[in-house]
Amino acid sequence: MSPAPLMGAPSLEPPKPVPGCVECLRLATARLNARTRGDFTTATDCDIKIRKHGQGHQ
Ligand SMILES: [Zn+2]
Repeated sequence: MSPAPLMGAPSLEPPKPVPGCVECLRLATARLNARTRGDFTTATDCDIKIRKHGQGHQ
């Protein structure tokens, strides 16, 4: 996993949970659990939920 950003490419980085946000923490935990058991469909779903939900932070 390289943190180097690619210019011009859409961000495929997993969204970061916002510190102090309970919903982010919940989704991030669910994502980690899903990844741990190899359930990447659910993990990706959590990525999307964190990203969408994150738009409501600012
Ligand atoms: Zn949040």
